[in-house]
Amino acid sequence: MKILVINAGSSSLKYQLFDMETETIIAKGLCERIGIDGHLKHTPLVGEKPVFDSDMDFPTHSEAIAAVLDKLVSAEYGVVASMSEIGAVGHRVLHGGQKFTESQLVTADVKQAIIDCFPLGPLHNPANLMGIEACEKAMPGVPQVAVFDTAFHQTMPASSYMYAVPYKYYEENGVRRYGFHGTSHRYVSGEAIKVMGLEKEGSKIITCHLGNGSSMAAVKDGKCFDTSMGLTPLEGVPMGTRCGSVDPAVVEFITNLEGCTVSETLTMLNKKSGVLAISGVSSDFRDLDEAAAQGNERAQLAIDMFTYGVKKYIGAYAAAMGGVDGIVFTAGIGENSPEIRRDCLAGLEYLGIELDEEANKCRGKVQKISKDSSRVQVYVIPTNEELVIARDTKEIVEK
Ligand code: AMP
Repeated sequence: MKILVINAGSSSLKYQLFDMETETIIAKGLCERIGIDGHLKHTPLVGEKPVFDSDMDFPTHSEAIAAVLDKLVSAEYGVVASMSEIGAVGHRVLHGGQKFTESQLVTADVKQAIIDCFPLGPLHNPANLMGIEACEKAMPGVPQVAVFDTAFHQTMPASSYMYAVPYKYYEENGVRRYGFHGTSHRYVSGEAIKVMGLEKEGSKIITCHLGNGSSMAAVKDGKCFDTSMGLTPLEGVPMGTRCGSVDPAVVEFITNLEGCTVSETLTMLNKKSGVLAISGVSSDFRDLDEAAAQGNERAQLAIDMFTYGVKKYIGAYAAAMGGVDGIVFTAGIGENSPEIRRDCLAGLEYLGIELDEEANKCRGKVQKISKDSSRVQVYVIPTNEELVIARDTKEIVEK
């Protein structure tokens, strides 16, 4: 079976087509500037077909999906003989609220639930729904599956997910910690249990998804016990452009100072804060490394605040779970930066963490980076959210 995986944003749409016999990607691509003008880059990965990279007219997501399907079956750029080979579509959906603990076959009820979560994911959920509806229109009868970024975290106990604000906001409005990157935390914690040779029951894993957005999770018995992102992805460790956890009073203070609206302040905390703001250089850790190496103190401070933030969560989650068997680093920074991994773990020897400096030089592959004598096993495990979406989709449509 071939499965199309879609990640729809407000003006973009990423896709990958999987051959599930081999779990390999046979084509991938990106539609950009939807609703503005439009551009499609389509890359076939089998059959030595050329890349298509050109402007197109995409007034809505529907035209973008139609163009993608056209390329997937075309003689020149195609990788399948006909649309009938595409058995199902899996969609990344940001917010499933409290309703969804696992992936769902898209029905009218599921679509309504995605709409009900618009207030919780105002930027992503409407775009995710547009992606689903565009596929429904272009591929009538082909099953669609929604895979939620929040679902894995729904096993958290109330003491992890509640905020200490008046209870009615939880009861009436769902104000609580939800957590994000759930598909990634699920995948890498599952792989960790396998490669570390642990039993799921009784296992205590800390997963560090460190990318442009970063989040941590405490995974106990294979289930999420706590995570660092909250009602929105703003909470937790400092990120590329997001501030991470701050005293909420900062919001009022800055809003008054700037004479702006609360929502303008929040946009600033989402898009113009984090390591970008501290360094004044970049949100990209490669640029920060370079600047810090040349003596830029603010770039070094940004890196230090980031690694200190990750270290604090490792300590907190080890305490929360009553110990830790394994730590996993994943996503852009976690998979590629030996220096950041080393700094996050520095001084944690008392927890039984001994880093193997040589093994830690690895990038972008599954690798044990702790010494054999280390009580806690530490691994780099590249994340693969699209594969999880494709696997969930296959499992649900084959039921
Ligand atoms: P992601 O959001 O998972 O795609 O991660 C993207 C981020 O990973 C970039 O913004 C960089 O900060 C970081 N990154 C990628 N490669 C490296 C590298 N070799 N060293 C340090 N950071 C990296």
